[in-house]
Formats: sequence, C-alpha cells, structure tokens
Amino acid sequence: MTISIRKTYKFEAAHYLPGHNGKCSNLHGHSYVLEVELTGTLVSRTDASDFLMVTDFHDLDSIVKPLIETRLDHKDLNETLKEFIPRTTAEGMVIFIAAHIKALLPEHLSLTEVVVWETATSRAIWRGQVCDTWHNHTQPVSTLPETESNG
Ligand SMILES: [Zn+2]
Repeated sequence: MTISIRKTYKFEAAHYLPGHNGKCSNLHGHSYVLEVELTGTLVSRTDASDFLMVTDFHDLDSIVKPLIETRLDHKDLNETLKEFIPRTTAEGMVIFIAAHIKALLPEHLSLTEVVVWETATSRAIWRGQVCDTWHNHTQPVSTLPETESNG
C-alpha cells in the first residue's frame, strides 16, 4: 500500500530580488515554512523497526535539517544560494530544495511535493517538475558540508 507522509519545517532568512520592479528588491526577511511530502510503500515486515511506516520521520529530518542549518536558517539567501539559483524567489527556492532532497533520498521513496511558504498567504509548490534551465542544480548540492563523504 502506498502512503504519503508530510513534514513541516521553519526557518528565518533574509533576501532581496535584484532588478525586481517592486519592494522585494529591498533587503528584507521572511519566516519561511517548508513542507516536504514523501510517498512510498508501507513497510509490511512486522519485525521491522519501521513496520507500518513509509519511513521514519527522523530519516527525513536527517536530510532536511542539515540543509536548513547550513544554507537557510538565519542566512542571507542571496549569498548562501547564489551558486544554486539565480534569484531567491519562492519558486527558485522550492526547485533548489526539491533537487537537494531528491539527490539524497533512498530509491524506495519518492519526493512528491515540496512547498515553500514565503509569507502566511504566499507559497510556491513543486510537484515533480524538472528544471531544464539550471541543469547544474543537482551538482553543487553534494558539496554541502554535511553530505561530503570525505569528511
Ligand atoms: Zn521576500
């Protein structure tokens, strides 16, 4: 049986949109909310630690929390994300975050939705779209300190 699980994360960050014709071109901050949805088959082995789970929520934390710590929370997003996305819109961020999670997710789990809430009423939603414009997106993600295999 296939089930989806979803977890919510929060972080505070500063950013601005250079060249934008509006007040978002000024440096400002948001209390971001991030939702991540995984879909997978329920573990059916009754002797398994994660019996009747898609995966332990902690396993999702172990992917998302290091990203939040190193690149997002209390950061200047225009600095910490400049090598990944050309503009720190909610749309750009949701593409970046989805690419990062997908790159680290075990094969038996699917990333089915990522939502970045920029304000209490405004959000961008990723549902499996691949970004053709920035093919190199998934490459630099592996250079995050927490994911380096050489320590
Ligand atoms: Zn903003």
